[in-house]
Amino acid sequence: MKVYLINTPGFTETNKVLDFLNSLNGPISFNYNNAPIEISDYAPSFDKLFAACKLYRSTNADIKEDDFVVLLTEKPNQSNWFSASKEKNIFVCTSDWERFSHIDTIYSIAFQVAENLIQSILGLNIDNIDEKYVHFMLKSCINDFCQNKFDIIAKMKSASICNDCLQLVRQKFEGNMEVFFQLKSILNRIRDIYELEFTNLQIGQLSNVVIHQDGTFRFEKYNLEMQLNPLRSALYAFFLKNGTIKYTNEDLRNNVDLKNEIIQLYRYFKRQIEFKNINEQYANLYNKINNDEIICTIDKLFQQEIDGRRPNYPSNKSEINHEINKTIQIDQVKDNYYITKGINNSVSLSNHYVKWADGII
Ligand SMILES: [Zn+2]
Repeated sequence: MKVYLINTPGFTETNKVLDFLNSLNGPISFNYNNAPIEISDYAPSFDKLFAACKLYRSTNADIKEDDFVVLLTEKPNQSNWFSASKEKNIFVCTSDWERFSHIDTIYSIAFQVAENLIQSILGLNIDNIDEKYVHFMLKSCINDFCQNKFDIIAKMKSASICNDCLQLVRQKFEGNMEVFFQLKSILNRIRDIYELEFTNLQIGQLSNVVIHQDGTFRFEKYNLEMQLNPLRSALYAFFLKNGTIKYTNEDLRNNVDLKNEIIQLYRYFKRQIEFKNINEQYANLYNKINNDEIICTIDKLFQQEIDGRRPNYPSNKSEINHEINKTIQIDQVKDNYYITKGINNSVSLSNHYVKWADGII
């Protein structure tokens, strides 16, 4: 399932919202095409806002009927709502959030995106409100109407869904629960951010990762660094380089292009350390032997489990994660962007945060 974010020119933080939404695993991929959509009215009607989504659909052949389009706009709307959905089109108002919530505005916006995706899949209709599932009395459910706009804080801090709505979730997401779990984990993460703010931890500021050829990974903003051996450097650099692209273990084992990419990276890191120690006249000969050894090491890395012994790859991956957790130990929300995730073999950090100290590979 694909969700396309678009924005009007006055909202400039869509990339941040996108990074956050993509930081949680699941079948939904969030995408962003940063060509802003102009809407001339100061406070457009719902029809105008949904028309902007439709226009975007009609001018982009990639968007399928089943995909969602979400317009993020700083403009207030005629009914003064935070957001609304109609079929698979959604708008979210991005301004004024600091009046209602003290956490970074991008999280409130992301909450609205996830909430509206759920509501749209539940089939809630703003033109014909079903009061069983849209609550005018506060229930701390994501489907609270929040006529008093300050009530929104209750739903964001609870991220919960009442029993009535949960029944509907079971019915409407049947066979598609992974989609629901991903959306719910976005809501849960934002609820957790309130908790973390409460304990006065800094969150949400992602750092560049600068990769050095000697296997140093430097987290610039936190002024922290970690050191990995050449093999782990190659693996981690591969994940960072490919950002949020997901690969299965089979892909890594069998796809020649991916394997060559890792071999190249391994060569890059290993040379820095080993060439220091050898005489230049032996360099060519050494390079030949070294190449075979490099290919063999990477082949071994992705071998299947042998004789009940844990294969090389998962233990290297968990060692990398261990080093990251040890390095950025103050904040689990931040850590989560940098570690390599379970079966997806990806990180949650966009690759525009990745820099190479010694030139681009
Ligand atoms: Zn409810």
